[in-house]
Amino acid sequence: MSHPKEAAAPASNFLRQIIERDLEAGTYAARTFAGTPGDAAHHASAPPDPARIRTRFPPEPNGYLHIGHAKSITLNFGLAQEFGGICHLRFDDTNPEKEEQEYVDAIVDAVHWLGFEWHAPEPALGSEPVSHLYFASDYFDFMYRAAEALVEAGLAYVDEQSADEIRTHRGDFGTAGIDSPFRNRTVAENLARLRQMKAGELADGAAVLRAKLDMASPNINLRDPVIYRIKRATHHNTGDTWCIYPMYAYAHPIEDALENITHSICTLEFEDQRPWYDWLLDTLCELGLLAQPRPHQYEFARLNVTYVITSKRKLKALVDERIVAGWDDPRMPTIAGLRRRGYTPESLRLMCERAGTSKAGGWTEYASLDAALRDDLDPKAPRAMAVLDPVELRLTNWAALFGSDAHREACHAPVHPQRPELGERRFGLGPGLWIERDDFAEAPAKGFFRLFPGNRVRLKYGYVIECTGCEKDASGRVAAVLATVVPDTKSGTPGADAIKVKGTITWVGADDCASAEVRLYDRLFTEPQPDAGGKDFKASLNPQSLRVATGYVEASLADAAPDQRFQIERHGYFVTERHDHAPGRPVLNRIAPLRETWTPK
Ligand code: ATP
Ligand code: MG
Repeated sequence: MSHPKEAAAPASNFLRQIIERDLEAGTYAARTFAGTPGDAAHHASAPPDPARIRTRFPPEPNGYLHIGHAKSITLNFGLAQEFGGICHLRFDDTNPEKEEQEYVDAIVDAVHWLGFEWHAPEPALGSEPVSHLYFASDYFDFMYRAAEALVEAGLAYVDEQSADEIRTHRGDFGTAGIDSPFRNRTVAENLARLRQMKAGELADGAAVLRAKLDMASPNINLRDPVIYRIKRATHHNTGDTWCIYPMYAYAHPIEDALENITHSICTLEFEDQRPWYDWLLDTLCELGLLAQPRPHQYEFARLNVTYVITSKRKLKALVDERIVAGWDDPRMPTIAGLRRRGYTPESLRLMCERAGTSKAGGWTEYASLDAALRDDLDPKAPRAMAVLDPVELRLTNWAALFGSDAHREACHAPVHPQRPELGERRFGLGPGLWIERDDFAEAPAKGFFRLFPGNRVRLKYGYVIECTGCEKDASGRVAAVLATVVPDTKSGTPGADAIKVKGTITWVGADDCASAEVRLYDRLFTEPQPDAGGKDFKASLNPQSLRVATGYVEASLADAAPDQRFQIERHGYFVTERHDHAPGRPVLNRIAPLRETWTPK
């Protein structure tokens, strides 16, 4: 059995080189461990932190995770695993208005399902696994103390300009900003005002706390960034304790530092924020609130996948407007949706690994996810037969040949052609069967080798049959295909090779199968880049993204538990639906066809 693709050494990327360099240089060897991050006191007397590297995956709980997040998860947890480090799962929950417990739970679920674990021994504390799941909101106290320290050092001020004034005075790419009239308040005045903000004495939006950097900086992020705002909103974790909340760009570096993160890996849009990240942490170290060596930020290009959108906001719109049936609709590129569709964690990880990690953006073909799924499932998925667009096939010489129409010929097939240890499937062949409608043609096109009058094909795992014609209904549609069994041609018997046929067709026995609902999923969008350049992604929704067929499936499939994956011969990879399938009442999702473009042989 070959699994060469996942087992192969991971393609090197620039982040690995940075980590190797840091490990070699002992960049973080002098780091101290000051207890769990919430304690936040990084005193010099703390013991060393023996963790080799620490990365983190920091989702904001404002939606379900998507395929792009899978890339970040695989990268951060993968690097920690590879270098004997620890990866934290941290909820970046600094924005109380959009965050919900439902999302927290769904994210925990998705990261676990992808196969990653944040319970890991904390080397300074012993060998027992410790949970490395954190909430940025647990650090609100420290963040506020740090803000007061910046004020006391003359490095932050309370600005009472309106939001519009702040925006216009910030300038733009070609124009320097204008200093706020509040920029030169005294430390005492700033401190008093900040405390009033915190105490709820100022209205929402009446003031903000800003760091005092450089209103003329060519990097707009350094033009006195806002670090606190007033917002009366109930937070999912801290309730109504706070009416001021830290801005993301201020909170994030502090979260990293408090958790002793070494390599803070994020996507390229944060590149321009790096000077601020560096300034803030170096300054807080100088002020004695944090300790060197501090974390460093590294950026990589986000994963873009064709025919998919990866913005939580837009995905939420699809859910809210009921364009899809929820966050876990099998057409959604959310991890919950991909899971329900039937993709495996291994296939997602493989696809992310193959997509590579670089600074250069680009698009990954959606087809690469299906390719990864096939590579994962081909060696392990049980095989099954099913007929998805059924027409009846009648074997008219059955009773003459076997004595009675009640006779059943026992047929068998391996569960997996390369894995005899998985055993066999058994099915009864009788005079009535279901076959695919397009396996019959009254007048065959050139190169059509399946059923047409006078032609012989093999019923897979069964007999060679010869087509004698068909019956039609009143509308002229084929109602049944007629054929005769060619004696002594059963698969696995000495006569099987006596007659050569060019076509083999799949089938299920009419009284040895179950009717199944088969959900045939396709891409949700018809455009490869549905939202590129600000395009309206709803304009390219694929009306064929879900077709529901009623087919017939062999017993092994009908009796399966939910969430079991199969390769249905000639049709592709399918999963018994997680929620709607029950043994005896089969509901299947098509995960992916067998080939990129499937043409029946
Ligand atoms: P969205 O724009 O959809 O809201 P986000 O980046 O704001 O996504 P976060 O919850 O902040 O979502 O993301 C958590 C982590 O996942 C961040 O480190 C972010 O950089 C990373 N991430 C998000 N999208 C992608 C992507 N397409 N490719 C790689 N990493 C991603
Ligand atoms: Mg974000």
